[in-house]
Amino acid sequence: MAALVEIDIAVIEILYHLIKAIQPILVPLCFVSAWTFVILLGWSLWSGMRATVARAKQMHQIPCANCQFFTNDYRLKCTIQPYIANTEKAIDCCDYRPGR
Ligand code: SF4
Repeated sequence: MAALVEIDIAVIEILYHLIKAIQPILVPLCFVSAWTFVILLGWSLWSGMRATVARAKQMHQIPCANCQFFTNDYRLKCTIQPYIANTEKAIDCCDYRPGR
């Protein structure tokens, strides 16, 4: 028990001296760290929004909802190309016929 207390005290002393040693650069370091965090957070949000918009644009290029072969039934979405209906593969579907 006494050995653990001595180790705790030694660790606290080391931390105290370490903090005292970096005290002059602590404020600029925190300033740079905080702004780096804010910038990375903003960049992450921006790139996430850009990816979401790009994905939404791609999904809106799927023509199946306006195709005459689209059944709007989850059991058989399309009578011509059921495996690619309502997927990105249907964007350039050669069997697309407008008609809905
Ligand atoms: S024929 Fe092509 S475009 Fe039309 S519903 Fe089927 S997969 Fe979609």
